[in-house]
Amino acid sequence: MDFQLNDEQQHLKKSVRQFAEREIAPNVMKWDEACEFPLATLKELGKLGLMGTIFPPEYCGAGMGYVEYVTAIDELSRVDGSIGIIVAAHTSLCTNHIFLVGTEAQKKNYVSRLATGEFIGAWGLTEPSSGSDAGSARMTAARKKDGWVLNGTKTFITNGHYADVLVVIAVTDRAAHTHGLSAFIVEKDTKGFRPGKKENKLGLRASDTSELIFEDCFLPKENLLGKEGDGFIDAMQVLDGGRISIAALSLGIAQGAYDAALKYSKQRKQFGHAISDFQAIQWKLADMATEIDAARLLTMRAASMKDAGMKTTLESSMAKLFASEVAVKCADEGVQIHGGYGFIKDYPAEKFYRDVKLCTIGEGTSEIQRLVIARQLLKD
Ligand SMILES: Cc1cc2nc3c(=O)[nH]c(=O)nc-3n(C[C@H](O)[C@H](O)[C@H](O)COP(=O)(O)OP(=O)(O)OC[C@H]3O[C@@H](n4cnc5c(N)ncnc54)[C@H](O)[C@@H]3O)c2cc1C
Repeated sequence: MDFQLNDEQQHLKKSVRQFAEREIAPNVMKWDEACEFPLATLKELGKLGLMGTIFPPEYCGAGMGYVEYVTAIDELSRVDGSIGIIVAAHTSLCTNHIFLVGTEAQKKNYVSRLATGEFIGAWGLTEPSSGSDAGSARMTAARKKDGWVLNGTKTFITNGHYADVLVVIAVTDRAAHTHGLSAFIVEKDTKGFRPGKKENKLGLRASDTSELIFEDCFLPKENLLGKEGDGFIDAMQVLDGGRISIAALSLGIAQGAYDAALKYSKQRKQFGHAISDFQAIQWKLADMATEIDAARLLTMRAASMKDAGMKTTLESSMAKLFASEVAVKCADEGVQIHGGYGFIKDYPAEKFYRDVKLCTIGEGTSEIQRLVIARQLLKD
């Protein structure tokens, strides 16, 4: 077992950290307060290869693996979780779905442009009445002579308003239940499609979370993604990778909250001492550092297994569950260590506290991760 990043991975980590501190950190609160989508920064990330980390060079990707992808999302989210979730939804949900099951023409046309950041991607599974129970989706795709007609609404879709390309899951055969769902590629200007309500959120406010509305939206038959009826099964495979990215998002937010708390604890004096001299604060820091380390090991295990071509349903869910719950705890303790200043927007602690809660909800809640883990444990 090797617990260290190799030299190239260390270099990547350092460069992403430098980029995040130079280009993202000065804008974080401005973007957060204005709910401003950081499009120009995403284009810069595209130039660095970070909008297509896990895709091969033949599709204009950076040709790296999940270990590098986790490292990048972790470092970006340490500074701004909004950037982390935007890149995660774009990469391991939208682009990866097309990469995994797309035709050669779809991969050449879409993956190549998504991987460079020329296109922004979104992935729509959730609907107003189907979240955890994603298999009960209602949006329909009715077969026509030369294609499909989509009707219905997706909700809470990351990048919904800014996506050039979207992957959505719709019912093609109601009687076949989860085997009657299929995936489709939608381009943003397609007639009959429009992004709807933009959500006003607790955290990750620079990321866009929107409805997608389909009203008699015609798609040519070439826009079917994967086999008809395989949309749900493929989506679950996509989520095996996606959940590793939410674990990485969690790690980054936890690390950011810890780093800020550690720094503050050495500066803040009470009773004539830095508060880091008090054992109560030291124990909080010790627990945070230990749990972040454990979460990083679980996340890197899942990432390494993915890079080795192994199935990671169990390991992805374990990493996502543990890292997200650790991150919520670390963000909470981060505010506590800052005392009243943790509640004030002049310090970063309050933003980590707001942003982190998505991690135990998105791409399957903690309850659903436990359900997935238990199913895997009990299946033999
Ligand atoms: C900021 C944000 C970004 C998102 N981005 C995307 C995106 O890009 N694409 C996309 O498709 N979706 C996205 N989502 C949707 C997200 O994946 C869902 O919100 C999530 O899966 C939970 O679904 P729900 O909100 O409908 O909650 P529900 O499914 O209604 O769950 C409500 C509560 O019931 C619990 N529960 C439900 N079923 C069970 C069960 N069987 N056993 C025990 N407890 C259960 C849940 O754990 C939760 O606590 C996003 C959501 C948010 C908030």
